[in-house]
Amino acid sequence: MRYSKMLLPTLKESPSDAEVVSQKLMMRAGMIRKVAAGIYTLLPLGLRAVRNVERIIREEMNRAGAQEVSMPVVIPAELWQESGRWDEYGKELLRLRDRHDREFCLGPTHEEVVTDMVRREVRSYRELPLNLYQIQTKFRDEIRPRFGLMRGREFVMKDAYSFHATAESLDAEYENMYRAYTRIFERCGLAFRAVEAETGAIGGRFSHEFMVLAESGEDAIASCAKCAYAANIERAEVREPEALKPASGQAVERVSTPGMKTIEEVSAFLKTRPELMIKTLIYETDKGLVAALVRGDHQINEFKLKKVTGAQWVKLAEEAQVQKATGAPVGFAGPVKLSIPIYADFGVRNISDGFTGANELDAHLKHVNASRDFHAAYADLRNAEAGDRCPRCEGTFEIKRGIEVGHIFKLGTKYSEAMGATFLDEEGKERVITMGCYGIGVGRTAAAAIEQNHDEAGIIWPRPLAPFDCMVLPVNVKDEETRKAAEALYDELRSEMEVLLDDRDERAGVKFKDADLIGIPVRVTIGERNLKQGKVEIKERRSGDVRLVDLKEAAVEVKKSLS
Ligand code: ATP
Ligand code: MG
Repeated sequence: MRYSKMLLPTLKESPSDAEVVSQKLMMRAGMIRKVAAGIYTLLPLGLRAVRNVERIIREEMNRAGAQEVSMPVVIPAELWQESGRWDEYGKELLRLRDRHDREFCLGPTHEEVVTDMVRREVRSYRELPLNLYQIQTKFRDEIRPRFGLMRGREFVMKDAYSFHATAESLDAEYENMYRAYTRIFERCGLAFRAVEAETGAIGGRFSHEFMVLAESGEDAIASCAKCAYAANIERAEVREPEALKPASGQAVERVSTPGMKTIEEVSAFLKTRPELMIKTLIYETDKGLVAALVRGDHQINEFKLKKVTGAQWVKLAEEAQVQKATGAPVGFAGPVKLSIPIYADFGVRNISDGFTGANELDAHLKHVNASRDFHAAYADLRNAEAGDRCPRCEGTFEIKRGIEVGHIFKLGTKYSEAMGATFLDEEGKERVITMGCYGIGVGRTAAAAIEQNHDEAGIIWPRPLAPFDCMVLPVNVKDEETRKAAEALYDELRSEMEVLLDDRDERAGVKFKDADLIGIPVRVTIGERNLKQGKVEIKERRSGDVRLVDLKEAAVEVKKSLS
């Protein structure tokens, strides 16, 4: 490709609304342009990178035995009504009507469509297992689209769905997909970790997220420094602490804490430490109000609270509800003499001479003894933190940030049961199909690659994702010899790799800046002075290493750099 002919509008400055590095660099490198919030056009350079991600995914999915299909973007409402998700999915689902006033949605995911197809086409256990995938545009009306391709509203996803006669068959395919995903992200040249993830409504240890490690990641991961255990902080298990401290004999005492609401204020005022405070949060749930207790220095985990209470949903109670349940405004709640159900984190059980709210304006209690002064159901209710003990070994947690690029999930019979997707087993008995689903964010993977691979000057593409393998950069195209040498090398390399020839009549500084910005792995610079000696310069983008080689050897040297 000739730079002079390519739509490659690089920018000196990043747009003011760009928040993360990948978004800034994709804009500046002329890869993407915003059309509306979370909706982007991919320009030629951007599309090339995204296509490379797709190619790797497609090759590995095919190798793993999955079959590619293509399902529609526009989906009739009836299918979503059958699964029950038409009402459940909420505002992320973009709904529309056709000219006959029939309802449709833009597919945010395709369980319904694929389950409908399979229930019509698959009859017997002999046709199972089956794994169908597509690489296709999804629409989710995200509340906060941001970070460019990383959290768009319209985005490309690889989604796969597997169908099985037995749970064992699903287990085997889940392992197969786990390995395929591992190969995919390895081939993309990414540093990643597969972590146990929250499964939402379905529960169980049935889901893994593939996380690209990067500071800008929206997810926090607790990972053991010693063993392979890693989990999204939403679900990372926190071990029950061992020893109980000896109980204090002192009776509970009320202390005045005028205007002191936060843990920091109260612990400073009472000259104690946050870990001796019992933080009491009042939650509203579909089963009524509950109190959730954690140590003052810990953070409540609402996913765990939801699981322990068995509620469908939990949310922090409103001011008025807190007042009604505790008799005090927000900031003064405590478990002593509280009449709503109390759920407490294991860490609270150790507190024997602690502090908590008095359920009274401007008052707290001291000498509170968890085992003596209130009753609570104890469970793991808090977020994991750095230094917590690993639930699997004697190691401790480190907290890292990650970008979720893939998700594999054992669905079980949630959709097949709701939609009547059955098969006849060996005895001719009708049984419900067991399912798995497996997603990868294609654009998000390309963006994550940039988050992990860049410097101040621009992108440093991992070779497998690079829009071009090599760039040929004649410094002065007005010089006849330079131009000829560049054209000849371009032709020679082009038969073996993707090459970008910067044939623009631009200042050298501009050309070098653009080259660093778009981050092609190898650059051959052809300058008049070196050329007189029959030499050209080869620069590797990642290492920055520069070497002079004979023009005749240039093609061989480029390949050496790429291998
Ligand atoms: P998230 O927690 O980031 O919203 P999700 O759990 O909604 O993700 P899935 O439904 O599992 O995501 O979708 C599969 C994959 O699609 C994700 O792993 C992610 O890589 C990608 N993806 C999801 N939402 C978006 C989005 N808004 N923009 C780009 N990619 C997305
Ligand atoms: Mg989401």
